[in-house]
This record gives sequence, C-alpha cells and structure tokens, in this order.
Amino acid sequence: MASPTTTRFAPSPTGYIHVGNLRTALMNYLIARKAGGTFILRIDDTDPERSKEEYVDGIKQDLEWLGLHWDRIERQSARLEQYHAAAEDLRAKGRFYEAFETPTELDLKRKKQLNMSKPPVYDRAALLLTDEEKDALRAERGDGVWRFKLEQQRIEWQDGILGDISIDAASVSDPVLIRGDGQILYTLASVVDDTEMGVTHVVRGSDHVTNTATQIQIMQALGHDHPSFAHHSLLTGPKGEALSKRLGVLALRDLREQGVQPFALLSLMARLGSSDTVELRTDMAELIDGFDIDRFGAAPTKFDERDLFPLTGRYLQTLEVDDVADKLAALGVPESKTAQFWAVTKENIETLGDLDTWWAMCRDGADPVIEDDDKDFVAEAVALLPEMPFDENTWRNWTATVKDATGRKGRGLFRPLRLALTGQEHGPEMAALMPLLQVIKAKE
Ligand code: GLU
Repeated sequence: MASPTTTRFAPSPTGYIHVGNLRTALMNYLIARKAGGTFILRIDDTDPERSKEEYVDGIKQDLEWLGLHWDRIERQSARLEQYHAAAEDLRAKGRFYEAFETPTELDLKRKKQLNMSKPPVYDRAALLLTDEEKDALRAERGDGVWRFKLEQQRIEWQDGILGDISIDAASVSDPVLIRGDGQILYTLASVVDDTEMGVTHVVRGSDHVTNTATQIQIMQALGHDHPSFAHHSLLTGPKGEALSKRLGVLALRDLREQGVQPFALLSLMARLGSSDTVELRTDMAELIDGFDIDRFGAAPTKFDERDLFPLTGRYLQTLEVDDVADKLAALGVPESKTAQFWAVTKENIETLGDLDTWWAMCRDGADPVIEDDDKDFVAEAVALLPEMPFDENTWRNWTATVKDATGRKGRGLFRPLRLALTGQEHGPEMAALMPLLQVIKAKE
C-alpha cells in the first residue's frame, strides 16, 4: 500500500513569509489536502544565531491568516539527537569525512580551478589525510567540518514540475553536513526529517535542485527511498527582473497591512505559473479541488503585486455587510446607514482601506472639482439642491430640475454634478450615494 501523502513546509525562521515561500507553503498544503494527507509545518531552526522566535511566531500567524492550517509542527532544534545518529550511521558506512580547509584555502582552490577552466568542485584533499595529520590539524585548527562523500555517478529523478532531471554528482562538491562548531546543517537535518516523518512529496523552489541531488544520495546512503520531488520556478518581477532583493518588502504581513485579502493572495499564488488562468476563489475547498501541480511550468514566473488589488476588490464584493461590520463600526458609520453604505461602496473599493475615503467623503463632504466651463452651471445647479437629508429620489428629482433649468442633458449634465459633489470622475451610483452625503462642500 502506498504511504499516505505527507508534505511539509519548512521555513527557516530567519525572516517572515514572503510571496516566494508562500508559493512553497501553498503548494505543499494543497497537495496534502487534496490527497486527504498530512501537512507538516517544520521549523528549520538548526542555526541558533540566525533563527528568531519572533519569526517562528510570525510564520505561524501568517499561515493562520491565510487559513493554511498544519496538522503537525516540528522543530529541528528539538531533533539534534536524531541528526547525530544519522551522522554516526554515515560515518560507520564510510560516507562521512572530516575536512579542515579554511574558507580562504577553499576560496583559493576554487580560483585555481576556475583559472584552469575546471568546475569549482571540492577536490577531496581531506580524504588523503592520515589519522596523524588529522590530529595535528585538529589540534591546530579545532574540529573540522564533516562532508558527505558523494558517489560520483549521475543522480536522476523525475521531477514533478521540471521533468527528467539528471545531475552529475562529480560536478557537485561533497556537501558539508556538520560545521566545525558542531552545528548540524540543513541538508542533513532535512534528509533525516523527510525520511523519519514519512514525507512523500517535497515541493520547493528550484534553487534547491542541487540540494535535492545530494539529498537523494544521503537518503540512499542511510538506507531509505526518497520522496518525490517537484521544484517550482522562481518568481520574478513583472518585467522578468529578479525579485530576490524585493522579497523583503513582499512579506505577507506588509501585503496584509496594505489591505490584501487572503483569498486574493491564495487565488493568485495557486495558479500563477500554471497553465490555468487566475480566477478568484473564495473557498479553500475550491482551491484544493482545482489544484494540479502537473499544470505548472519550469519557466520563471512573473509576479506583479498590483494584481492582488483587483482580486482583493472582487473578493470584497462577495462579502455581506455583516462580514465588514467591525470595519464599518471602527470607521464610525452609524448603524442605520451601514447596509446602505456597504451596498453603495463595495463595487468601488480595492481594499477595505478605501472605505475610509468614501466614508470621509460622506461625512465631511468632498472638495468639489469644477471645470472652468462648468462654473456657472454648477453654481446654478447647487442652488437648486433640496434641503438635507437627501433620499433615494433626490438625485433623480434634482437632475430633472437642473435639466429643465439649464437645458443640459446626458454626460454634460451628470458629469459636472458628480465632480462637484464627490470630487471624482467615477464612483458609486449617485442616486444611491446621495442619501449618505452629509455635507456638500460645493454649497459652501
Ligand atoms: N529551510 C529550507 C528553506 O527555507 C527548506 C528547504 C526545503 O524545503 O527543504 O530553504
């Protein structure tokens, strides 16, 4: 029987989740949910200096905000014993060796190789050291790093997104799995976790392809099968430019701050880079149902955060007034007017923040925009405005009166009046907006 589908999202808590790693989280979540399997949140915190509790909390908050609930949480810092046991196993199998080169020495070796047009692969000089030489180096430099000895053959797998992959292990340096100070590195920890936690599918960014090659060999050396792998393409900006530098400002919490709604983000990220078109989904079950990793391509994926705003707007239009009651109360919209205010404005917002502007306009009036040719006309029209409060007939009756008085009609009649009352070319239907207006600045 095939093992139950198990995926994991494995962020290092050295920063917040941004759109790049959201893609990884979402794909793994959707695969697990679609298969009725398990989704693990794994905190890759073997680096005590760079890992911060604040980021662990932040990562959890962001996933919860999105509704990407995990079934289990694991922390690598709590599993060091298991990693040391695996290291011991690799040692016993002759696949692990200590090396003592300093970073400067390694750099020099790399430069020499490059000068001779050779790939800058670690030359395995440490394999030739005798025990006495190692003791001497250890006495002089402290403990060495531990490298995994790759078998120099091709490493091949059928990637869920990239297709057939074949990497020549001879073109890859033997990876360092334990640092000189004893710190376990991600590659070893990840391999041990993926096997011990029964992970069946690993989906991550294509920057991990070489890691995958080495991890497959480590898993095999430890006597395990490897999970299936899929590597999604990296995100670029809208013009194909590298996004890496901007990812800091594309953190989920910043987007949330700007008013982006979870379903806008999820709908975009679940489809971007696939052959399916982006459609707004307002329900997780639909997202799960419609997700198919086979439809994703290897080409870099263009991401434009501006796409999130129309999607957010469309999502907000699906909400009922009760769903935004807190927001309207916070704005100070009187309860008697909330339903009307929401009905009038919801088609004209991209984020809930836009409601602030519409409410300020209703409450305080808008600075009128009056074009030169319309000055006399607007003055005449405004003089014909009935007393407040306005009702749902005010606009119809008033514009009919103004039309009779001035002879204007159509756009020439309506446009200057909208501009005078709202200061804007476009916006909610005027007939519905009028009863909400409490101040008309053009009258003052
Ligand atoms: N902590 C690693 C990262 O954030 C995890 C990579 C993986 O999914 O194995 O890049």
